[in-house]
Amino acid sequence: MDELKSVIRDIPDFPKKGILFRDITTLLKDAKSFHRAVDYIAHRYIDKNIKYVIGIEARGFILGSALAYKLNKGIVLVRKPGKLPSDTIKVTYDLEYGQDSLEIHKDALEEGDRVIICDDVLATGGTVKATIELVEKLKADIFECVFLAELSALGGRERLKNYNIFSLLQY
Ligand code: AMP
Repeated sequence: MDELKSVIRDIPDFPKKGILFRDITTLLKDAKSFHRAVDYIAHRYIDKNIKYVIGIEARGFILGSALAYKLNKGIVLVRKPGKLPSDTIKVTYDLEYGQDSLEIHKDALEEGDRVIICDDVLATGGTVKATIELVEKLKADIFECVFLAELSALGGRERLKNYNIFSLLQY
């Protein structure tokens, strides 16, 4: 894990002053690390009877689709408003300043579908919480939420205490 951590780059004061941004592009660029991270995470869900991987726009699509491919499952997209072409449902959630929304296709999931939700980084947990809301509106069953990295000090895990959370790397 230390080796994987060493290929994540820290960028101070991005996107604004005071934020230490964990830049995963350097891990994704390194074939060995990307492969290792995806294999390690995927191994956890083999034989768990998962039906779909849910990927959160945009960086959740990268790990999410690699995981789905490896697990031989489909990926369902949760996207920013106005991007999905068919009928959608929407959830609006609070950010540090202002609000944001996410959407999913109404027919993307069926009652009881067992899914994992995937994003690159767990920070405050607001984004994944909104995704959980969408998935639960469609009555699917959330097996676990999975991340490449977790920023523990930001309290995402506590906010999601009713759900299983797995992060490959902890900060
Ligand atoms: P949150 O809703 O606070 O858990 O934020 C989650 C989203 O913001 C994730 O999709 C991350 O891509 C991104 N994010 C938030 N904080 C950071 C950070 N310090 N470094 C890298 N990505 C971050």
